[in-house]
Amino acid sequence: MSIEPRIDVVRKAGQKHTYIRLYPPNRVRISTDTTTSDADLNNFVQAHRRYIATKLQEFQQYTYEPVHTYAAGDVFYLWGQPYTLAVRCGANKVTLRGDQILVQVPSIQPVKVERALHTFCIEAIKEAAGPHLVRYEKALGVRAGEVRFRRMTSRWGSCNTVTGALTLNTELVKRLPVALEYVVLHELAHLVVRGHNSDFYQLIKKYMPHYKDAEHVLKYFPIDRA
Ligand SMILES: [Zn+2]
Repeated sequence: MSIEPRIDVVRKAGQKHTYIRLYPPNRVRISTDTTTSDADLNNFVQAHRRYIATKLQEFQQYTYEPVHTYAAGDVFYLWGQPYTLAVRCGANKVTLRGDQILVQVPSIQPVKVERALHTFCIEAIKEAAGPHLVRYEKALGVRAGEVRFRRMTSRWGSCNTVTGALTLNTELVKRLPVALEYVVLHELAHLVVRGHNSDFYQLIKKYMPHYKDAEHVLKYFPIDRA
């Protein structure tokens, strides 16, 4: 199956090279100089055809289901793995069984299933973030203020360098575990180095030599905006 790419060209004066970036499900963003000719752009796209096709195919595999019906059969991602929803009547409870996520609610209504899943996700992310916070606070010699978990649409995490308050996006619960670890380290590291300069990334690298893998996960599978 071939996927039709949606190509956006962004032109910036004085840009020396032409860059390509892909975003799920099918966006291809090409940034180039204002003087690049259409013929050159065409050649550039042709030269990257295979790369674009492979990437878009990959996105299809990992596209997160943004619209949920909260009915049996719905697919949810937890720590990068897909789980199929099963719903039963009973006392509130969410359990994982193999590749199933079983939600028990007193009466089967999508809104109740949604709420039960949301509570489950908040608990899961809090539990998973705890050890990373302890570990990296100690390693960096910093202390976070209040740690909040919120669903955000534009960022994975934030850090108030004055109060030390950290906010982590609950959507991280859907991504591979390394993504959460990276965001915790990244935000705590801002209590040492504010900006994203080389000192900052040196610090990150010291504790997570493969941090780029995590950045890759976050970049290629952006936040669901639905
Ligand atoms: Zn940052």
